[in-house]
Amino acid sequence: MSEQKIPYKIYISEDEIPKQWYNVRADMKVKPAPLLNPATWQPLKPEELAPIFCDELIAQELNDTDAYIDIPQEIQDYYKTYRPAPTVRAYHLEKALGTPAKIYYKFEGNNTSGSHKLNSAIAQAYYAKKQGLKGVTTETGAGQWGTALSMACAYLGLDCKVYMVKVSYEQKPFRREVMRTYGASVTASPSADTEVGRKILEKHPGTTGSLGCAISEAVEAATSNEGYRYVLGSVLNQVLLHQSVIGLEAKTALDKYNVTPDIIIGCAGGGSNLGGLISPFMGEKLRGEKDYRFIAVEPASCPSFTRGKFAYDFCDTGMICPLAKMYTLGSNFIPSANHAGGLRFHGMSTILSQLYHDGYMEAVAVEQTSVFEAAEQFARTEGILPAPESSHAIRVAIDEALKCKETGEEKTILFGLTGTGYFDMVAYEQFHNGTMTDYIPTDADLQSGFEGIPQFPGNEI
Ligand SMILES: *Cc1c(COP(=O)(O)O)cnc(C)c1O
Repeated sequence: MSEQKIPYKIYISEDEIPKQWYNVRADMKVKPAPLLNPATWQPLKPEELAPIFCDELIAQELNDTDAYIDIPQEIQDYYKTYRPAPTVRAYHLEKALGTPAKIYYKFEGNNTSGSHKLNSAIAQAYYAKKQGLKGVTTETGAGQWGTALSMACAYLGLDCKVYMVKVSYEQKPFRREVMRTYGASVTASPSADTEVGRKILEKHPGTTGSLGCAISEAVEAATSNEGYRYVLGSVLNQVLLHQSVIGLEAKTALDKYNVTPDIIIGCAGGGSNLGGLISPFMGEKLRGEKDYRFIAVEPASCPSFTRGKFAYDFCDTGMICPLAKMYTLGSNFIPSANHAGGLRFHGMSTILSQLYHDGYMEAVAVEQTSVFEAAEQFARTEGILPAPESSHAIRVAIDEALKCKETGEEKTILFGLTGTGYFDMVAYEQFHNGTMTDYIPTDADLQSGFEGIPQFPGNEI
């Protein structure tokens, strides 16, 4: 029997866009560790989180038991403006590599924010609006999250304050203007607007900022302004939950052609796209129904999984956020400024951290120039100009496909192509001019980050 011809793009129908998110925690035997109050080291109660986060999102954050959570109709309707996202067979890349492997990617860059971040932005803005809030505050690194949130807030009529990591604010003026087009106010972080920002500026006058520092400022802005809450574009359980639409759609598409991936690959910054992509597949693995290899790809310059510690740590530099148990480089770890794009956060989703710790997932760290080589090869064969973050996953997908070429194995590879790289041309320029460098922190560099991890009974590192 001849194999059914698989189209270049496997679209599913509008009606097949998920109506429920899948919560992988429900199928985890060992649940991710709870968030702790940094003052008492005790698990946080919902009422302690209420000044920072929206009520409904707190409920989702703490929900370890419901496997499926209904997506409100208004969010489903917004999803329809840019979803379903295609699952694409990378025929041209396969041919260029001369590999017997079958490569698929789930493309999340078909919206103005240029990334998967809109999937959670619209959900978080919706719950803030439903709670009757005036607005939300957040941080943004490379700018995709801030853009996504600005779009969602414009749609729902919410005010949006974005603290943008200074290096990106300066290098990516166009991102900033996109956010302002959608009505957001954008402040370079660290700023003199917040107490924590002023403290950081005093201690590190020339700093180009970091995500951890921008988070502290955004949290302070939320808790000190009536009617505001803080929202976060990655790391948190609720964000992985919202991003499960990526994996659910990909699975629906592949199931139509009876395609089962052997290897599923995603880049890992805070873990939300990877978590969302793998969730339904991981659920099958956790329930003992199927087996898959999952690979998290991180930059060698910010190697949380491959060189970090699994411990409770702060999510922000100002140490005002709850403590999360995760693979971490320490909250005062500031990745090299020469590293392009996102994936610069010092920590990692607690869900993915637990799964990695328990051996359900692998992780690899890749160097920047090899990532851009992969990006360029992908652009020239598949046509899409990939985001630098996404290109980490492309690198490892290509590496795995080349291994198949050696062994002759016809493995099926699925990777997450999280977004487009139009705002990252300064990084592409450095790569083309040969001025891009591969910074890898030394053990001594990492040690100084580890020293900032809080020490308390049960959290010795
Ligand atoms: C933010 C972002 C990432 C990394 O964030 P995760 O939470 O780890 O998914 C990856 N790719 C793109 C395009 C992004 O915008």
